[in-house]
Amino acid sequence: MTGKNLLPSDPGNRIKKRLFLGLLSLSLLFITALLAGGWFLLVHRSNLFNRLLLALGLLTLAVLFFIIALGIAGLALIIWQERSRPLFLHLGMIAVNTLFPVALALGRRLGLKKETIKASFIELNNQLVRLQNQRVKPEQVLLLAPHCLQWSGCPHKITIDVYNCRRCGRCPIDSLHALAAKYNVRLAVATGGTLARHFVKQYRPRAVIAIACERDLTSGIQDTQPLPVLGVLNSRPHGPCLDTQVNLEQVEEAIRFFLYEKTAEQPRPSRKELEVGSSV
Ligand code: SF4
Repeated sequence: MTGKNLLPSDPGNRIKKRLFLGLLSLSLLFITALLAGGWFLLVHRSNLFNRLLLALGLLTLAVLFFIIALGIAGLALIIWQERSRPLFLHLGMIAVNTLFPVALALGRRLGLKKETIKASFIELNNQLVRLQNQRVKPEQVLLLAPHCLQWSGCPHKITIDVYNCRRCGRCPIDSLHALAAKYNVRLAVATGGTLARHFVKQYRPRAVIAIACERDLTSGIQDTQPLPVLGVLNSRPHGPCLDTQVNLEQVEEAIRFFLYEKTAEQPRPSRKELEVGSSV
């Protein structure tokens, strides 16, 4: 339970979201510079064919620029007003998907860590998912955990069948079982992106709570769009991919978000109740 995820109301969370939005805007400026460069070339070329070719390229870039600019402005508006707007959300996702590699490269050039940029993207995604306010039935929720949460000395193969876990309590998989049973949601453990995609295809959930590192969460969220995915970062006290941990309170909060209306929220179980549940 050593995860360091920030809750949505945390001010640091807002800063993280702004970081990715800022990088997106910077990427847009980069495209603008490309457009300006293209325009410069266009007016200095005498060859008609080259002019036509450049004009076509510039026109395509200009349309892309317009969509992306609208998408970024829409995302900023959604975050600022804390209100979902489907059209802006759709355009925003186009902007994010198109500019993600550019934003990542620019962020790296500015000395930012890849993990920081991806964590910022995950926070932005979580906020957008929350603003959509979608409620689903328990059986439509998939709780997807990474294999590295399992104790490295455990002999039981839980990726094929998660119920092979003997619930000994040596790793967070036991508590995830308790949460899944308590809320009647599905639990699956994946070794990587391919198996995670397989589970999504097999169970056809309408909402996913995914636990993973920055890299896997980022690619998972992008791969499963437009499926709403709330990402919870794991913590790595023993280094990457080994005996990782997760903040169970954040996982539970994410499950409850998909299941309950805010006004009809059920009383939150205590940590003691969860521990009792995990030993059943
Ligand atoms: S809780 Fe399950 S997965 Fe974890 S060590 Fe025990 S048997 Fe293995």
